[in-house]
Amino acid sequence: ASLRSGRSVLCALFLCFPCLSLVFASFTFGFVHQLQTAENIIFLVIENIFHSGLDCKNKKMSGLVEVHSGGVHRVMESTLTARDRVGVQDFVLLENYTSEAAFIENLRRRFGEKLIYTYIGSVLVSVNPYKDLEIYSKAHMERYRGVSFYEISPHIYAVSDNTYRAMRTERRDQCILISGESGAGKTEASKKILQYYATTCPVTDHMSTIRDRLLQSNPVLEAFGNAKTLRNDNSSRFGKYMDVQFDFRGAPIGGHILNYLLEKSRVVHQNHGERNFHIFYQLLEGGEQDQLSKLGLERNAQKYHYLVKGCCPRVSSINDKSDWKTVRKALTVIGFHEEEVEDLLNIIASVLHLGNTQFGEGEDGETQITTEPQLTYLSKLLGVDGPALREALTHKKLTAKGEEVSPLSFEQAVAARDALAKAVYGRAFTWLVAKINQSLAFKVSHTSIMIASYFEQFCINYCNEKLQQLFIKLTLKSEQEEYEAEGITWEPVKYFDNKIICDLVEEKHKGFISILDEECLRPGEPSDISFLEKLEDTLGGHAHFVTHKLANGKTRKAVGREEFRLIHYAGEVNYTVNGFLDKNTDLLYRNLKEVICQSDNQILSQCFNREEVTTQKRPETAATQFKNSLAKLIEILMSKEPSYVRCIKPNDAKQSGRFDEALVRHQVKYLGLMENLRVRRAGFAYRRRYEAFLQRYKSLCPGTWPNWQGRLADGVATLVQHLGYKPEEYKLGKTKIFIRFPKTLFTTEDALEA
Ligand code: ATP
Ligand code: MG
Repeated sequence: ASLRSGRSVLCALFLCFPCLSLVFASFTFGFVHQLQTAENIIFLVIENIFHSGLDCKNKKMSGLVEVHSGGVHRVMESTLTARDRVGVQDFVLLENYTSEAAFIENLRRRFGEKLIYTYIGSVLVSVNPYKDLEIYSKAHMERYRGVSFYEISPHIYAVSDNTYRAMRTERRDQCILISGESGAGKTEASKKILQYYATTCPVTDHMSTIRDRLLQSNPVLEAFGNAKTLRNDNSSRFGKYMDVQFDFRGAPIGGHILNYLLEKSRVVHQNHGERNFHIFYQLLEGGEQDQLSKLGLERNAQKYHYLVKGCCPRVSSINDKSDWKTVRKALTVIGFHEEEVEDLLNIIASVLHLGNTQFGEGEDGETQITTEPQLTYLSKLLGVDGPALREALTHKKLTAKGEEVSPLSFEQAVAARDALAKAVYGRAFTWLVAKINQSLAFKVSHTSIMIASYFEQFCINYCNEKLQQLFIKLTLKSEQEEYEAEGITWEPVKYFDNKIICDLVEEKHKGFISILDEECLRPGEPSDISFLEKLEDTLGGHAHFVTHKLANGKTRKAVGREEFRLIHYAGEVNYTVNGFLDKNTDLLYRNLKEVICQSDNQILSQCFNREEVTTQKRPETAATQFKNSLAKLIEILMSKEPSYVRCIKPNDAKQSGRFDEALVRHQVKYLGLMENLRVRRAGFAYRRRYEAFLQRYKSLCPGTWPNWQGRLADGVATLVQHLGYKPEEYKLGKTKIFIRFPKTLFTTEDALEA
């Protein structure tokens, strides 16, 4: 407690998380056929350290008053005709709040008026405008500063500010969770929040350094972790979790980032119309000529096999050359030394050279490297012995002690090369994050969670299920639990609890991951197919697991013989079982690791430690590592008070002004917004703690003015009796008053003004 009051530290924690992304093969069928990887959910957790009195401004209200589950707020667009045009700014005020059509119509109207933000109580719904709306200026920030959530039109700044103040006044940990599909605007939202704090929080000299580093970490992480995909020109392909500490004045004094699930496969392969990570193109476009010569690179992305898979070297919305300048500057601001930058560039270049390393057949049919110049550059850039690297790229050694090596087939050599490229890039990324952390360090840092390899879609969707669980637990369930805790009867609202799917994946002994691990460790000849059979034996008949076999012995056509289907909360997804076993265990051969361990490159020698190749112990499988780190994270987040930003993508064409209703409807559905609204409105539209309610309205009743001396509940009872509330209009709970209709509160607010 002394630290808390004395040091007044407050933490913000950000998490960018890959989750579901849906590809609609054809919307008319309304099915989700395939999932792509990586989208983000960002959490912001603010740990409350110090306390100040309740912020109770008795402002004069005019115009229409809107009611939220948490308070009162004045509508900026206040007249009825305006409401017809722009819709309501809080869905709880929709007359027909159970109608999905009315919900979508409200979103559409507002979107048409460039009002991209709408509330569901305290949840912010945001629709990507795909153009600069000029609503993020410093003047806008000032407008939201210190103003109650409910007294000004919805905005991401309102959420930022409200969270910050809630932490101070309520002394509770806070978190903002931003979710939505790829391209919906999650990353932009998280940047807006960070910019809001960077601009509005007070700073001193030292703190301005930390603030700048925090802001500059974004372009660096985006360069290495974002890529152009079909759905988003700047798609985040990794999960991020950022933790920012402020001092008692609210100035940033430190931070920490955890990275999850970098989509490493992108390093060696991109789908048509997509690119590799931005950094490769930035270096080739923006790097100085002598720098490129030193790295043995040509200023032409077309020359590099790893960059041409998607046939998309240039993107109109991206300027690689100027982005390179930004990144280069950012690295300096964050505090990277010249040698470190050089080591980093060597690694980026070595990945490109690895991609151009080709294999052929020698005289005796053995696999050999046919591209000598590449090998020379590789050994130089990786800082390893050339002959040893040659040997390691064409042979494998499976055990630590055994000296035995066996030659690789052509396909195996290609796979080993790609595995090395992915490992080198992936670990360098983790190193980069660790390095940024050092520069942001304020106090003891957490240990970074690293995942060796993963089967992206499955892990990402599992992660998304867990986050949906969190959403259910923290909002829907806790909403009901609050009524219960307050002793107020609750008419239950039905919602789908996806715990059943989480259990399917993670349950001990009989869950998906257990079965996978068991199969990986089984002696004999485990294969992807034998794994699929095990899955059928154990999970067959589960409502959310399906294979091609039907109960009546017939075949289900929609699921292939080497596939299984999981019925996720957001839709059905087929997964091919191929590669699951390999990806769950480590693909990188031991002797390749041994070679890289010897590297002169400081980054690589830190990323590949010797212990890893000398230990006989089987490392934890990728799925289990992921499951455990996810569980830890969820546990942290469960302890926070959540706010939500739900991002919606208005069209698939990345165009401004286009509102595709079918696409929006689907997102409204899987984000659970209708359920969310039902819960907010069912029973009571508004609730407030007794002291806050009394404080605000005590002047309306002689019995409670200027101060109520007795029990708070009695004070509120006296007050509402005086105001003439009818019994069916309200309920008194243990610590809060619950008001059923918005109308009741409007009247009381009007009375304040009279
Ligand atoms: P992914 O899951 O692929 O990382 P995302 O949800 O993080 O997607 P963003 O990268 O935040 O999506 O947004 C995609 C693009 O949409 C941005 O590059 C930007 O052009 C546009 N955009 C998003 N939000 C806004 C906004 N508030 N104002 C203007 N443009 C926006
Ligand atoms: Mg993103």
